[in-house]
Amino acid sequence: MDQELKELYQQVILDHNKAPRNFRKIENPTRFAEGYNPLCGDKIDIYLNLDNDNINDISFQGSGCAISKASASLMTSMLKGKTKKEAEEIFTRFHDLVTDKLGDNPDLEDLGKLAVFSGVREFPARVKCASLAWHTMMNALNGKDEKVTTE
Ligand code: ZN
Repeated sequence: MDQELKELYQQVILDHNKAPRNFRKIENPTRFAEGYNPLCGDKIDIYLNLDNDNINDISFQGSGCAISKASASLMTSMLKGKTKKEAEEIFTRFHDLVTDKLGDNPDLEDLGKLAVFSGVREFPARVKCASLAWHTMMNALNGKDEKVTTE
């Protein structure tokens, strides 16, 4: 990946860490799930308001490293207003990207906002930080209330 792009993505992550979007609690959420990454100490709780299969609102709370927080922030901004099915598709693409299933040169344009995470693949320990919010969101979406842990 070219250096300029890499720096831009790092900038986006830093920005989301500094000013996380949707960092709040939803009162009476229709769905809720907790996530924990013991490797780094990241804790992310996901709140969801589902209306039929539509994500009317999604938010998070918790504490953790810059990557985990930025990932939750980016994820919630991407998923708000999406359907359950769309959210699952975006999750799959995110997961394929960070677990390197898309190869060395993923189509960044095709990835849209997810491209920001393409640099994370180079740091295996960071993949869990970036994935935590996403796995927790999937549990919330599917109504599973057992705690997500990355171990
Ligand atoms: Zn972390």
